[in-house]
Amino acid sequence: MTDMFLHNAKLFVGLDGEVVDNGAVWVRGHNIAWSGHTQDAPTLSEHTTHHDLGGQFVMPGMTESHVHLSYANAGPTELDKQPVQTAMLDAVDNARMVLGSGFTSAISFGSAQGIDIPLRDAINAKRIPGPRLLASDRDVGATGSNADSSAAGREAHKLIADGPWAIRSAVRSLAKKRVDVVKVFIDGENLNDHAPPGVLSWTDEEVNAAVDEAHRRNMRVACHARSAAAVKQSVRAGIDFIGHANYLDDEAVDLLAAAKDRCVVGPGIAFEVALLANGDQIGLPRKAMEARGYQREVDETIASVKRLREVGVRVTVGGDYGLNITPHGSNAKDLEYFVDLFGMSDTDALLAATRDGGWAFDPEGRAGTLEPDTWADLVIIDGDPSQDVTMLQDHARITAVMKAGVIYRGITRPDPRADTNL
Ligand SMILES: [Zn+2]
Repeated sequence: MTDMFLHNAKLFVGLDGEVVDNGAVWVRGHNIAWSGHTQDAPTLSEHTTHHDLGGQFVMPGMTESHVHLSYANAGPTELDKQPVQTAMLDAVDNARMVLGSGFTSAISFGSAQGIDIPLRDAINAKRIPGPRLLASDRDVGATGSNADSSAAGREAHKLIADGPWAIRSAVRSLAKKRVDVVKVFIDGENLNDHAPPGVLSWTDEEVNAAVDEAHRRNMRVACHARSAAAVKQSVRAGIDFIGHANYLDDEAVDLLAAAKDRCVVGPGIAFEVALLANGDQIGLPRKAMEARGYQREVDETIASVKRLREVGVRVTVGGDYGLNITPHGSNAKDLEYFVDLFGMSDTDALLAATRDGGWAFDPEGRAGTLEPDTWADLVIIDGDPSQDVTMLQDHARITAVMKAGVIYRGITRPDPRADTNL
């Protein structure tokens, strides 16, 4: 059983913005036993091993609140095209990259071909390294929705359902597969000619049926909802994880404010920002993307996040990493966006990634802080990200990641098990 006392650390517990100099954390088994100023430490066991961190920074593990581990770092219009055998191997690598980047928990927003379930089970069985995963499966959406966009083979990749009973049946089929999260499409995407943002692909009755069926079976619901109308339909139906929420009106902000203790918003802004910045390199030129509305979408999102923060809605980090313009392992870039675009302090961005994402992942409070009796999920960093969150993107700065008391080092290398030293 892990029993270690990490001391001489800069400690970020994750409850508020405080950084404790000469802090310490006591890890026993899978959990945090204690954290605080070293001089206040309780009496340790004689078996406790002591580790001097030499002033390095210790913070809670982060939560990637909108992950697609099946994405293979391909283009936005080339997603999930690899055969399932390859997709499974890719996902094993992707899970390792996400954990090694400091994200000890992840909430899936959909996995093509159902690879999340065996992936989650393999992670939990300690066969492969990866974050704690709320697993999803194929997206559920209406005929003609954003989910219904592939020309052929859509049965393998999506669950297309219309009408409350067909939707309930689709959700029940996911319960049988033991998913944690049902991903639904409420509205669409600027890149999609037949399903843009603002067009609701299901009626209220249909969305309510999806959410009711999921909640009855102890699954949570994540959605793609860009427009104010889509966000309102999602919140009224009781959806737990609102993805995007780019365009909000007063009513949508009020609804989210009233629901702030039961749902979170993950803007997932990396996609738009990277598309505008690097689309030229992948055949989606900036001018064309601006014409499709992506710059406006970024501008609207900045305004929306500001309003959500004013009314205390939790805004969580991550979203749509795993494209060629947003590769797996660069997930911490999101904290830089939270600072640069959303005007957060570095500390507030850290809290969004740890405390708030952790609350989304585990409403019982075991993730996202280093309080006693939480999960022993933490990151040790050579540097002080409370002064500059961009250093979290530098894997060389991440000394170690701990999940459930187990330490992972250097696992973002291409082949972490290969070593040239005997
Ligand atoms: Zn997504």
